[in-house]
Amino acid sequence: MRVTVVPALADNYIHIAEEEGGGRAIVADPGEAAPAIAFLKNANAAAEAVLITHMHSDHTAGLGELRRAFPAAVVYAPANSGIAGAIGVGEGDCFSVFDGAISFRVLETPGHTAEHISFFANGGGNGNNAGGDDSNRALFCGDTLFCGGCGRLLGGTAKQMRLSLEKLQTLPGETKIYCGHEYTENNLKFALAAEPDNAELRARIKTVAALRAKGMPTVPSAMAAEKATNPFLRLREETIIAAAQKQLNRPPRDPDETFAALRKWKDNF
Ligand code: ZN
Ligand code: FE
Repeated sequence: MRVTVVPALADNYIHIAEEEGGGRAIVADPGEAAPAIAFLKNANAAAEAVLITHMHSDHTAGLGELRRAFPAAVVYAPANSGIAGAIGVGEGDCFSVFDGAISFRVLETPGHTAEHISFFANGGGNGNNAGGDDSNRALFCGDTLFCGGCGRLLGGTAKQMRLSLEKLQTLPGETKIYCGHEYTENNLKFALAAEPDNAELRARIKTVAALRAKGMPTVPSAMAAEKATNPFLRLREETIIAAAQKQLNRPPRDPDETFAALRKWKDNF
């Protein structure tokens, strides 16, 4: 499975995963139809499935036109999405694409919105690459986990988001993180304010700046790098607890308070 990060709208990404050998593709979060259709036409690939992480228009607005171009595409979306003909999926639901070559597992990840879900892809579903091909471990996580940060709370609670992020960080370290926006540079500026002495974070900021200087996406990252540098995945680190304490003017009682203090700080950063 090869995943291409296709820019859309102002700073969104549509992720398009192509079958090895070509011909079929999966489209994640089509916020705009034209860039996705142009990519698929150019790649000579038909959309077999569309993944919808949540119901914000910058992730769904291209769906109608995309389905008109590829009427056979199966749409996987949060339960009760209201999308006609979509298959509603929730925690633990599995499905496969490309005749079983790639299997997906759904994780419910509320917080940014109440209905938000994420899709974890694991290759080798047909046994042809048994033993695991790490390159096929990919997470399509919309606006829950961002590279270097996380989504705002626009419908879910701090506790929901904290639990969602904890769920995601149990995935293997090599899992590639395909998030919905190019927010990495700003996220890492905030991360550095929270953790000025994190050496891995400082190195990552340089790598990200070099990519952006060339106009290249900073997405995907890998889960291991997120766990080392993303403050929202580091709620139990002394440095992050101390940073939250500064915001609260008292020690946070638990990881939920640590998360909420960081999130509020970032909202005004
Ligand atoms: Zn959103
Ligand atoms: Fe978004």
